[in-house]
Amino acid sequence: MPLVEHWIAGAPSAGSGERRGDVYDPATGRLAKAVALASEADVQAAVSAAREAFPAWRDTSLARRTAVLFAFRELLNARKGELAEIITAEHGKVLSDALGEVSRGQEVVELACGINHLLKGGFTENASTKVDVYSLRQPLGVVGIISPFNFPAMVPMWFFPIAVAAGNTVVLKPSEKDPSAANFIAQLWKEAGLPDGVFNVLHGDKVAVDGLLTSPDVASISFVGSTPIARYVYETATAHGKRVQALGGAKNHMLVLPDADLDLAADAAVNAGFGSAGERCMAVSALVAVDSIADELVAKISQRVATLRTGDGRRGCDMGPLVTGAHRDKVTGYVEAGVREGAELVVDGREVVPDAVDEQAVADGFWLGPTLFDKVGTDMSIYTEEIFGPVLSVVRVAGYDEGMALINANRYGNGVAIFTNDGGAARRFRNEVQVGMIGVNVPVPVPVAYYSFGGWKASLFGDSHAHGTEGVHFFTRGKVVTERWLDPSHGGLNLGFPQNS
Ligand code: NAD
Repeated sequence: MPLVEHWIAGAPSAGSGERRGDVYDPATGRLAKAVALASEADVQAAVSAAREAFPAWRDTSLARRTAVLFAFRELLNARKGELAEIITAEHGKVLSDALGEVSRGQEVVELACGINHLLKGGFTENASTKVDVYSLRQPLGVVGIISPFNFPAMVPMWFFPIAVAAGNTVVLKPSEKDPSAANFIAQLWKEAGLPDGVFNVLHGDKVAVDGLLTSPDVASISFVGSTPIARYVYETATAHGKRVQALGGAKNHMLVLPDADLDLAADAAVNAGFGSAGERCMAVSALVAVDSIADELVAKISQRVATLRTGDGRRGCDMGPLVTGAHRDKVTGYVEAGVREGAELVVDGREVVPDAVDEQAVADGFWLGPTLFDKVGTDMSIYTEEIFGPVLSVVRVAGYDEGMALINANRYGNGVAIFTNDGGAARRFRNEVQVGMIGVNVPVPVPVAYYSFGGWKASLFGDSHAHGTEGVHFFTRGKVVTERWLDPSHGGLNLGFPQNS
């Protein structure tokens, strides 16, 4: 069985621990690899490698750092197809989707190539007589990044390009469910000329996470995952004096007003509901339809769902399997709960016949087809909980006000969309909605590297969103320098608090 090893100080490392995790091919259900699960000593080894690499990397010129970033960008661009195949083999998402995720991450690398501009400080000449004031931003030190299974390349790339470009050194703890993408990325960094120890990959579970959260040598934590773990990470790491951004779960709504283009809205609902089998933090899982158009919209969606092909992501299908058998069973449990609680099951994904590589894979892959519920009540578990699978729930409302109240009452605030042809309604929506990422006639407001990405309420703990200017601020600390060079005309004692003159 191949072993996915840690990557410490520029080389693979099996680590000192005996513990191993299982990595599956979700489209066959077969065990494909083992992954090393870090011990406390492995955490220490990764953090030490990053700590030792920090002083030299911090003092490496911006010109040299950006040269490495540009080289990494070129390698990533040239080899993104290979990375997409690695993602599909362990996550299950279809190849085109995996390629899309890499491209989105690459945009943050491209942003970080301009770090010299992003790090520029301000300068004020003669703030006081012959006194100049200027600001500068410096790296934090060793930064920890802990990522979820659903974007094994893009989510780490929300953080590490800016962290590295700004002069920090990194320990990345990817999801143990699809760990190989991180090692491929580490290898690219090495080929790009990044010094050993600047980018390290530590595989593992709670032991690895807790080690990073409590290590006195780790300056900050960037976390993305489910809300309970995000809260735990935020509370634990801040209690240990770290800067923390912890992005959590989501329940994204899409409000469709009666004047919307219903074909556009139906396409969007299907794309955002079932793309990546609903395992996206920006997936639409609650479709809020105004009564007068709800029947027509549900009919259009179910017609489209009937055309989707679920199967192996390497076989040109529209939708792949779920990431693990346990996760598939959990999502199927929600489908059963929806039926039990009285929602109308319009399309039942449990009956899917997948396009898999052989009969065994049909039987053993982690399959669940697109599932559509109508007339979902807001007290049902399929509405109140994040499902993170291919289950779209239609909730009917009387009009805009009821839809807005529903959305703002939700505990999550990650993404939301409105479909309408009324610019005034869209404008009001964007102003009133308590959500971080908003789509107007766009279902999944995907991250754009030079804007900062993140949610509100239980979807984000901490103050900083990912990448964009907030990312640059997160991975740097500001200094303000007040400077005077000796002038023969200036001097003398004055014990009063300085006043500008
Ligand atoms: P998860 O919370 O189970 O795991 C995330 C990370 O935390 C993994 O690296 C995992 O190893 C670690 N972890 C898991 N349990 C832990 C524990 N008890 N103690 C310490 N560490 C632990 O999330 P997941 O299932 O990998 O990913 C799906 C979740 O991520 C969904 O809730 C989704 O909404 C969320 N997500 C959010 C965003 C966003 O932008 N807000 C983006 C992507 C995913």
